[in-house]
Amino acid sequence: MKSDLHVHTTFSDGICDPEEVVYIASMVGLDCIAITDHDTMDGVGVAINAGYKHNVKVIPGIEVTSKDGHILGIGVKNIIPSGMRWNDTINSIHRAGGVAIAAHPFSLSPPGCKKKPGFDGIEVWNGGPVLSWIPNIRAMYYWMQNVDKFAAVGGSDTHYPITLGTIMTLSEDTDVVRAIRDRKTSIVLNPIDWKTVPYNVRKKVNR
Ligand SMILES: [Zn+2]
Ligand SMILES: [Zn+2]
Repeated sequence: MKSDLHVHTTFSDGICDPEEVVYIASMVGLDCIAITDHDTMDGVGVAINAGYKHNVKVIPGIEVTSKDGHILGIGVKNIIPSGMRWNDTINSIHRAGGVAIAAHPFSLSPPGCKKKPGFDGIEVWNGGPVLSWIPNIRAMYYWMQNVDKFAAVGGSDTHYPITLGTIMTLSEDTDVVRAIRDRKTSIVLNPIDWKTVPYNVRKKVNR
């Protein structure tokens, strides 16, 4: 199962609307994406419907602005409030049926969560364009020392169509949320063939 578990849309600061995101996901060979807009889940419904059309599994998600940094809630049934401490945010994600991932855990801007206990997974590699390699290498090193504690999660943190799917979370289980709970995931960095990005989206980017 190839999943990109960190995806933004026009419902926060992404440039593609949920349907475009799902369509591009199908073009680049992703089986599954999680919509993780900042502190909103308003784009999830449209994306799930588009997922049926384009044969991409869409998982409801959110990137929560906690007091201690950004936290991904993947597979949550309801919105998670922002502004709480990291442990309350994690509890709230678990109560909503999801898994909690420390997004870009070693970056300063955007802020990652310095506290780690309680997370189900660590975003071992984040594809955000403003993130340098150093926080990613630190995250990878941290995860390698704690492989039994945390699932490895990779997310493109895409805000633009060209980066969607450039980092994928792999799982044998078709239920990637369960795979994270079981700590049975891995990640891969996956270059995208520019030709597969639809023309209308390329035009939007080049505008
Ligand atoms: Zn973030
Ligand atoms: Zn993000």
